[in-house]
Amino acid sequence: MRLLLLAPPGAGKGTQGQRLAARFRVRHIAAGDLLRAEAQAGGPLGREIAAHQARGDLVPDQIVLDVLTPAVVEAAARGGYILDGFPRTLPQATAAAELGARLGVTLHAVVYLHAPGEVLTRRLLDRASQAGRADDRADVIRHRLEVFAETTGPLVPYYTQRGILITVDADQPPESVTADIQAGLSRLSLSPPGSR
Ligand code: ADP
Repeated sequence: MRLLLLAPPGAGKGTQGQRLAARFRVRHIAAGDLLRAEAQAGGPLGREIAAHQARGDLVPDQIVLDVLTPAVVEAAARGGYILDGFPRTLPQATAAAELGARLGVTLHAVVYLHAPGEVLTRRLLDRASQAGRADDRADVIRHRLEVFAETTGPLVPYYTQRGILITVDADQPPESVTADIQAGLSRLSLSPPGSR
């Protein structure tokens, strides 16, 4: 199974990504986590990534591709992946599609999780009071939601045109979101092992 979760900040792609990875027995590749790990490791590259993340700006495409590609290629060889947050721009999507075509591992489905802006903001502010991520601050959250609308939003028509987009309402309890994703996947004839 090769799946992409496309969702604005706060829609629950991390939670759904973990659940789907366990269900389909594939790796969960969270772009934000891999980039945060690289930032933690320090050095000039780490500092550049950390600066973009702290502002709520996207990390430049070439850096993202350099960090993500090895994980994607390795997981593809081991049965697939749930991609969480990559690709997030049209140039990333094009680069990922070219790589996938070259390796014979194109995406089976793209799940678009959507929820109203107020719901996303409230969830992120709740998380801020618990987890303390540097980018979970009211002003940075607003900026991240704008960046999503402008830069990642165009991926919705891009994948719709390719006939692999499943749209799911993320303003529901996590179990219901998972159930709706699974229903959407079975409409595309994609079901977890042992479920039929
Ligand atoms: P969220 O979706 O809540 O913003 P993530 O952990 O997915 O959380 O992403 C956090 C930050 O990591 C983003 O604001 C951005 O700076 C960076 N990032 C993650 N994925 C990408 C990507 N595919 N391209 C560019 N930047 C990314």
